[in-house]
Amino acid sequence: MPAIDVLAERLSSYLAADQVNQIRRAYFYAEQAHDGQRRRSGEAYVTHPLAVANILADMHMDHQSLMAAMLHDVIEDTGIPKDALANQFGETVAELVDGVSKLTQMKFETKAEAQAENFQKMAMAMARDIRVILVKLADRLHNMRTLDAMPHEKSRRIAKETLEIYAPIANRLGMHNMRVEFEDLGFKAMYPMRSERIRAAVRRARGNRNEIVEKIEQSLLNCLRNEGMEGDVKGREKHLYSIYKKMRGKRKAFNEIMDVYAFRIVVDKVDTCYRVLGVVHSLYKPLPGRFKDYIAIPKANGYQSLHTTLFGMHGVPIEIQIRTREMEEMANNGIAAHWLYKSSEGEPVQNSHARARQWVKGVLEMQQRAGNSLEFIESVKIDLFPDEVYVFTPKGGIMELPKGSTAVDFAYAVHTDVGNTCIACRVNRRLAPLSQALESGSTVEIVTAPGARPNPAWLNFVVSGKARTHIRHALKQQRRSESINLGERLLHKVLAGFETPLESIPDERIQQVLDEYHMEVFEDLLEDIGLGNRMAYVIARRLVASEEEETPAVEGPLAIRGTEGLVLNYAKCCTPIPGDPIVGHLSAGKGMVVHLESCRNISEIRNNPDKCIQLSWSKDVAGEFNVELRIELEHQRGLIALLAGSVNAADGNIEKIGMDERDGRISVVQLVVSVHDRVHLARVIRKLRTIKGVTRITRVKA
Ligand code: MN
Repeated sequence: MPAIDVLAERLSSYLAADQVNQIRRAYFYAEQAHDGQRRRSGEAYVTHPLAVANILADMHMDHQSLMAAMLHDVIEDTGIPKDALANQFGETVAELVDGVSKLTQMKFETKAEAQAENFQKMAMAMARDIRVILVKLADRLHNMRTLDAMPHEKSRRIAKETLEIYAPIANRLGMHNMRVEFEDLGFKAMYPMRSERIRAAVRRARGNRNEIVEKIEQSLLNCLRNEGMEGDVKGREKHLYSIYKKMRGKRKAFNEIMDVYAFRIVVDKVDTCYRVLGVVHSLYKPLPGRFKDYIAIPKANGYQSLHTTLFGMHGVPIEIQIRTREMEEMANNGIAAHWLYKSSEGEPVQNSHARARQWVKGVLEMQQRAGNSLEFIESVKIDLFPDEVYVFTPKGGIMELPKGSTAVDFAYAVHTDVGNTCIACRVNRRLAPLSQALESGSTVEIVTAPGARPNPAWLNFVVSGKARTHIRHALKQQRRSESINLGERLLHKVLAGFETPLESIPDERIQQVLDEYHMEVFEDLLEDIGLGNRMAYVIARRLVASEEEETPAVEGPLAIRGTEGLVLNYAKCCTPIPGDPIVGHLSAGKGMVVHLESCRNISEIRNNPDKCIQLSWSKDVAGEFNVELRIELEHQRGLIALLAGSVNAADGNIEKIGMDERDGRISVVQLVVSVHDRVHLARVIRKLRTIKGVTRITRVKA
């Protein structure tokens, strides 16, 4: 029998004949639209929408969802427009298909990306018609089941997205079965080795456990029967991914996790649930503090059940869930169970969408009634994105922040100005440190002061991107204004030395200099000076340059006169002297240091115009420059006197002398002499060479 007929037969158990026919029609339409397309596995493409429809049929979804499932890839993959689908199958089905296509285009690369905008889109799609999500989930489930056909990289990406986005959504909608399958398939694709190891370990453990499981099951059944109550007792096993998460997250050993025995007792009525609870509590001693009544207070996703933990024989912990059949269905299929229930009771399914919305609304109201809207938001969104906290403003507004957020994060989330001027905070009406991580449910009040500024230390504890960006920005502004101030003072001081006050420098000249440095405004230049990135002296020379005929062209290298004093330093590593090719290294806070062009210490930054500038020696350079010589010579008496005499004869000065004996015959002398320039140095060296026994003289440079 063709696969569509098998499905049609299954459908006729809960859908009207004409609805089944409409689904058939959608199938044939899809078959034609996808004609010639194949899945990666080689099968005809239509097998995929058919499989998606089958998944929804398992959940007894309505005929429109099933039609949408058949057609869900038509708009995306075949280019048939939405209007065409609307004409054929009605507006609602076309809308569903369109919604699914839009979700498909959404890429949830990372959790962070998904969080803000995409979640909103998702929520909007859900609000418009929750069935869009259900079709999408079924689509993803079939893709996960057939993931093996995908190339490795792609399957990993899909698996990651499934674990981070789709499994939590299934969980949020209470669709436990689907979530478990998503997680185990995703786990297997992401970590095939780990998944297999846990699977094997579970298989081994099952052997040892069977006997105990049967014993407990029997005693629970006996106990029910003795009290005249009916119920199914089932042993439960944790799924692989949840074992893995427990091992990782709670750092538990595999055996610790497997040592817990879990059972579910499913009964007919709510009343029976509580009676069964009493019975099992008398059978085994309950573990204090572990009883939870999710029947009276259901979870936000609609989950209802009683949970309790007992000490079994030999102190074995036994976890027990007690619930009705309806609750069981709800727990397994979540929101989809609503269709199942209504249709099995023979009600028309046309209203199912309205009921689904009702259900979402009901969940909302339920939580609000409970007076704890926070818990609602928490379960809805923390379930989906567990890394967030929700706190209240003093007026009761809710702020959503990344987990670990502090009052400063909160302040910036309220408003940038509040963040920038924040000085203290009250958490739940008590003063608290700004750095303290906020807890969900706290009410946070920020104390501000006019003129207050962000503290650089905040950067150590804020977690939200917004706070971080704004603090950095504010600090930068602050640093800028301080730097401009300092830069201006430095420049004024130097200009005073040139006897050219800043005010007397024409605007055109200033603009010229700004252009040279590719700067927009004069403040930028002042800031750079204040920060030590540029030297006030250099800038001042540039500014007054055009008025002095004898100064070299501004574009050329800056000429060093040797009279700059403290603002200029000569590098100790390479000891440049006039005549040497030189560059200036502007080091922040240190001013300018003159190096030899060939100095190894600046080889990496030499061509970086922000750090180095070309220099030349002025013609009338003045002063004495130290240079180090290394002289190898035969050991002889009165050596120092000989060296000193030679240097002196060449008009040089010895600044420092050091000597070590290489062997009995040769000595090596380090001589620091001061000279005027290279020509002078050459004269000194020539003189030194005349000393008898000198074998080699080298100038020491880095
Ligand atoms: Mn698909």
